[in-house]
Amino acid sequence: MSSKKSSGISCQGATSITTFADFLCSKISPALCQAVYEKTAIAIARDMRIKVQDFGGNRAQLEVCILKYLAQEESFEKFRRYLYSPREFFQEYIKKLVHEYCLDKNRRLEMFLNDSLTHYYENIQSAVFTSTRVIKDRNDRSDKISLWLDEFCSSLKEVLSLPRKDLKSIEHLKVTDIEFLNNAVTEALAPLHDELKQGFANADLNSFGRQPHTILAEQCAGCWEQCPFCGALCTNTLANHDGDHQLVFHRPNVLTGYKWYKTDNLVIDICSSSVASECLFRIGEDKWIPYKKYREAGPPYSTWNILPDPSMKAYWKWFVCHFRTQLEKWFNGKFQGKGEIPDAWKKITKQEVLSQLDKF
Ligand SMILES: [Zn+2]
Ligand SMILES: [Zn+2]
Repeated sequence: MSSKKSSGISCQGATSITTFADFLCSKISPALCQAVYEKTAIAIARDMRIKVQDFGGNRAQLEVCILKYLAQEESFEKFRRYLYSPREFFQEYIKKLVHEYCLDKNRRLEMFLNDSLTHYYENIQSAVFTSTRVIKDRNDRSDKISLWLDEFCSSLKEVLSLPRKDLKSIEHLKVTDIEFLNNAVTEALAPLHDELKQGFANADLNSFGRQPHTILAEQCAGCWEQCPFCGALCTNTLANHDGDHQLVFHRPNVLTGYKWYKTDNLVIDICSSSVASECLFRIGEDKWIPYKKYREAGPPYSTWNILPDPSMKAYWKWFVCHFRTQLEKWFNGKFQGKGEIPDAWKKITKQEVLSQLDKF
């Protein structure tokens, strides 16, 4: 009789311990998955900053890499997107690099995810052992399970989002053999690990809440103001910097669609030479401002410091020549009259342009 009874209790105990372990794992699973993706996104961004040349410097250096890429691709559509909305183009470009880095034949994404999983899985296992060690001899207490859960959640609080209150429904379980519980939880964790790992084989970048390219884009941030004449980006590395916006190499004003007044002649001059000229520019319907006093046009002009400098990068000379037809069509104008392209520009080769960029 007595042996039957004790076997009955043990059986019931075993069932409830299994229920306990399964319930606990059902709460750990989504928290673990989320933690793995968060850690992996940061790890990928960190790794790419070290290993991918494009991220080796500040945003201005990243832009040099973008210009190089654009020249290599020779796609006017891509140039158009870059010139029209540089900020979005940067995002798109970074996203492309992350995609290549993570999902090429090396499948680094899966490797990064598995590394993070191993890291957190070990944390969880060690939290199970620690909690068991701390609680197992507390024979003075009848609420050992509740104590075990307190200990377990608190040792994982820096690791997983596993609120203790979500485990209230299992804290009243009557279990005296904590070692038995320890083993049941450890056993239940193993399939959880394997299931997540299997899922990682098909993971893509959309599986992330906060994607690695978003983190990289934030780290490569800077001022996104564009020169009101040529559209080039301010090169300040701070988003809300003090003082004027500034940049070194301005671009031919045709890139923002400038034309000479009452003609269809596109403007190939750069702003930094215009500000030293006798020319005027128009704002609104008929207000004319001398380039020399461009700040008097008010914002955004007044927030820029454009130093007189006639030097223009060969890059934009090549670009204007190479995409002449497309630019004429885009801005509904012509490279003629005052916008006649100098012969010297036409001799510049893409190779020269690329090697000039390498010198940055
Ligand atoms: Zn400019
Ligand atoms: Zn700025």
